[in-house]
Amino acid sequence: MERLQKVIARAGIASRRKSEELIKEGRVKVNGKVVTELGLKVTSSDKIEVNEIQIEKEEPVYFLLYKPRGVISSVSDEKGRKVVTDFFSNFKERIFPVGRLDYDTSGLLLLTNDGEFANLLMHPSNEIEKVYVAKTKGIPLPENLRKLQKGIRLEDGKTAPAKVKMLSGDKKKQSAIVEISIHEGRNRQVRRMFEAIGHDVMKLKRERYGFLTLNGLKAGEARELTPHEVKQLR
Ligand code: URA
Repeated sequence: MERLQKVIARAGIASRRKSEELIKEGRVKVNGKVVTELGLKVTSSDKIEVNEIQIEKEEPVYFLLYKPRGVISSVSDEKGRKVVTDFFSNFKERIFPVGRLDYDTSGLLLLTNDGEFANLLMHPSNEIEKVYVAKTKGIPLPENLRKLQKGIRLEDGKTAPAKVKMLSGDKKKQSAIVEISIHEGRNRQVRRMFEAIGHDVMKLKRERYGFLTLNGLKAGEARELTPHEVKQLR
């Protein structure tokens, strides 16, 4: 038994709030009858229609993928490039990525068919720590890394404080490996933060998402989250 608005949200039709509005507006039917109360609980055998269209109910699934470089964080690509859902072609569920990693970024990416779960994780108030390892062009000076730590002005505003750790620097190759932990999820944020202190990022990998790591996975491999992990993320 689950609340009606939750089932609608999970079907990917709308956020939880929008689903509540749809119900209040009388646009939702359960077993052929319009329902306008929010608390109604439904089971998998109930027929639910939104705007006269029956929603498809699927069991919620949650995956953790070690995304390789050179893959689009989307469900399709008009240029025919590989997309993250290609790694799940054996599954019938229509899953989608929770947020995105750039085409050239590798690392930890969650995928699910649970729209509500995805919205929750991507909401700015949900400050999940994401840990990245960046290979930079040139070796950043400690004072510049401190700027990243404190927050740096980008064209879409100042970034929140970050944790920054220089892991190694190679004077001969003029590059460094830097670990950076951020809570936000702006577009190309880590690359833009390093660009702002004068260093291009040559390689970027997301090593951690909250308490989740890539342990035991190779690039291109995925595993299902355990029910306990899903609960902890909510
Ligand atoms: N920051 C970036 O610049 N790229 C990513 O893919 C993720 C975070």
